[in-house]
Amino acid sequence: MQVAKTIEEVRRHTKGARSRGKKIGFVPTMGALHVGHTSLIDRGIMDCDFIVVSIFVNPTQFGPGEDFKKYPRPVDDDLKICEEHNVDLVFNPEPQEMYAAKNLTWVNVEKLTELLCGRSRPGHFQGVTTVCAKLFNIVQPDIVYLGQKDAQQAIVIRRMVADLNMPMEIVVCPTIREADGLAVSSRNKYLSEKQRKDATLIYKSLQKCREMIDSGIRDSQKIIAEMRKILQQVPSIEIEYISIVDADTLQNLDQITGRVLTAVAVRIGPARLIDNILIDTGKL
Ligand code: AMP
Repeated sequence: MQVAKTIEEVRRHTKGARSRGKKIGFVPTMGALHVGHTSLIDRGIMDCDFIVVSIFVNPTQFGPGEDFKKYPRPVDDDLKICEEHNVDLVFNPEPQEMYAAKNLTWVNVEKLTELLCGRSRPGHFQGVTTVCAKLFNIVQPDIVYLGQKDAQQAIVIRRMVADLNMPMEIVVCPTIREADGLAVSSRNKYLSEKQRKDATLIYKSLQKCREMIDSGIRDSQKIIAEMRKILQQVPSIEIEYISIVDADTLQNLDQITGRVLTAVAVRIGPARLIDNILIDTGKL
């Protein structure tokens, strides 16, 4: 496994792989790797011949007062995990390598970024799409692997790739969960034992949504009210949003129909946690 700190090194390795006819898979991450990340790597290994993982805590996607400084950076552990999962190349740049000159160019996907997490994290998605555009230009992958865990992020990046005619495929992989249903996340580390237990209510509320839709209920407000009751069982949970939206446009749905995304964002103590489920009512 090669570890590159510079853009030039990445270009050299990927150019070599491409000239040997290898299909390049790319998994962008912020590190603190866990089974959610490795599920993307493992999927990439199945489809591709050369897997690149980036480990970069991207400053431009964190707002003032967010957790940029304290975001975990266990780089040695991450490299070990990558090695164990047969990654070919890790790109682990310093911020000055990615943002050498102060960026005057930003990539901004309209509309889709104004909803859900975009409301409470202004500028967040612009940071995400800008760093992804830069990383995609550096790595030039055939396939990019993203997690359904960050559903809005995947939708926004897919749209950027389509709108800017970037020549790559986006594959979105299922959310990996702990045994009790909590979506695996680097930010779960911020939780105390009690908060970690309370956090299981997030997935319970999503399961309630699924049950209600399965039983034929189509009134979103009715479902959201039941989900709210579940999350309000503990005082530690502060609800940021519970939304039932069209899975393509992210517009709120009063009546559930077609492919719907139910998305939740909460604060528990020091952590902001998000989760979602995707339901295709056409297939029920
Ligand atoms: P992050 O390091 O949090 O920026 O995440 C990097 C990639 O891993 C993103 O595409 C995430 O959606 C994906 N990811 C994070 N957690 C999970 C999970 N529990 N299941 C599946 N994918 C995940």
